[in-house]
Amino acid sequence: MKIRMGKSNQSLIIVISTLLSLSFMVSSISAKEARYPEFGNGRIPQIKAKASEYMVSSANPYATEAGLRIIEKGGNAIDAAIAVQMILNLVEPESSGIGGGAFSLYWDNANKKLTSYDGREKAPMLADGKLFQQNGKNMNWWEALAGGRAVGVPGVVAMLEKTHKAHGKLPWADLFEDAISLAEEGFEISPKLGASILNKTNPALGRYEETWEYFFPEGKPIAAGTIQTNPDFAMTLRRIAFLGAKGFYKGEIAMDIVAAVNEATDNPGLLSVSDMANYEAIERAPVCADYKEYKVCGMGPPTSGGMTVLQILKLLEDKNLAQYAPLSVESAHLFSQAAKLAYADRGKYMADADFVKVPVEGLIDSDYLKERAKLITEKDMGKATAGAPPNADTNWKDAKSPEQASTTHFSIIDKEGNGFSMTSSIEMAFGSTLMVRGFLLNNQLTDFSFSEEKDGDKIANRVQPGKRPRSSMSPFMVFDKDDNLMMVIGSPGGSRIINYVAKTLLGVLEWNMDIQNAISMPHYVNRNGNTDLEKSTDAISLKEGLEAKGHKVSVRDLNSGLHGIVRTKEGLEGGADPRRVGKALGK
Ligand code: GLU
Repeated sequence: MKIRMGKSNQSLIIVISTLLSLSFMVSSISAKEARYPEFGNGRIPQIKAKASEYMVSSANPYATEAGLRIIEKGGNAIDAAIAVQMILNLVEPESSGIGGGAFSLYWDNANKKLTSYDGREKAPMLADGKLFQQNGKNMNWWEALAGGRAVGVPGVVAMLEKTHKAHGKLPWADLFEDAISLAEEGFEISPKLGASILNKTNPALGRYEETWEYFFPEGKPIAAGTIQTNPDFAMTLRRIAFLGAKGFYKGEIAMDIVAAVNEATDNPGLLSVSDMANYEAIERAPVCADYKEYKVCGMGPPTSGGMTVLQILKLLEDKNLAQYAPLSVESAHLFSQAAKLAYADRGKYMADADFVKVPVEGLIDSDYLKERAKLITEKDMGKATAGAPPNADTNWKDAKSPEQASTTHFSIIDKEGNGFSMTSSIEMAFGSTLMVRGFLLNNQLTDFSFSEEKDGDKIANRVQPGKRPRSSMSPFMVFDKDDNLMMVIGSPGGSRIINYVAKTLLGVLEWNMDIQNAISMPHYVNRNGNTDLEKSTDAISLKEGLEAKGHKVSVRDLNSGLHGIVRTKEGLEGGADPRRVGKALGK
């Protein structure tokens, strides 16, 4: 099977597709309003969206609009989510897609039931703790991520099919129509995608022929504003629309994925057709905790997101944060201390609970966290060490697994009041940079610890065959005391996701901010190290005050992509992150 196109076909296809896209540009650009406002100072203006019946907030206007169309046609939140994800794969390919994995929460409003779904990538059965070692040493992260080595079995299609079979209303195939037409007719390259290609956010972008041809037609990066088609992706979607998930996990698409992974000769992987055929998405119990009068729920292992966000909230519950301004030294200090304690536990205990014992209940146990909260004082605590939560195996060794900023999050509330919160990722921007049939493959296995053990003790998040790498993805929902859904939220941002989501939850629940203000608020972040303040924002005014408390402060870009919805007395309110190019809209 041919993974990369031969040279002769290539030039013919370039000529034909250039002609096609030129003719399309003439007919459509003049008719089209500018879809994306200008980035000013790295931010776009975002105003709070309002609606009475239903709402979608996602990282791209095409996706938000497609989700709304599905709901207008009688679809529910799950149906809309499938359309949103397929469009995002097309228009925000650097962040998520069918070549990657996802976690989601679904709120079934009629039955007052919350379910969570795990569509995380799995390590191939041939992979083991030596996957990221060369000559007895850990590989360089940047070398590990490109090519086949870090590609896990993708989970998005299986997860969406499972949610749709359980709760969907409209026929599966109908949910792909918008993405297929947009892929065939063309879409406008967003400023975010244009900049990511131009700056090669992923240095390996273009290393492999198929990816080069798509993102650098005629050797030049596709620029923001260009109208782009992706006929290969349209064909892929038609197949999945017609055959369901088996059209992806078995047969020619699966074989092409396996071939691309194994034939990336500079850094081949270990994926097999049976890894593909045996993949299953899993319905799991969500993790919930009470925070004041609210019930706050996230996703359990293999993501660390749910437990770590809940730990931060619980550690702060008795600190009366509301007495301080959200952007004050006191708030940033307390938040960062809670985050340090939570990240220390995350590093030691959190991994795929199907492989290692994760003390899920113990980690969010109120008494345990009340004791831990006593470690928070007026001064910075330095590096926090992990605690000993109830039922924990304390022999695990802490490990780092760096995660970079790509990924996407979208939130949906439909006419019946059902909610969907999905964070979806191919890990690094452009993932492994391998492209198959119009979509990119993930490099999610780099979320594993590269080392197997430390000082003779095993690391919980080490690579094991069939295991899912620890994640930080944190799709969340909040309920009031009568079990009414009141908030849907999540974000990309690598392991900083946890900070972004926890801080936005506090913005709404503690500081009574509206969702847009809570999302737009400048960031302060701590992952058990420096306190990061968001560059070019008012957050840097906190620097001196934090340093006086003993913090090591760094000022940097903090690229969240928070997309959320809150139900207020007046109706639905939606927010989209000014740091990306998305939109919240509703009716
Ligand atoms: N791979 C990361 C995770 O699963 C997400 C990466 C990102 O947000 O950029 O937690």
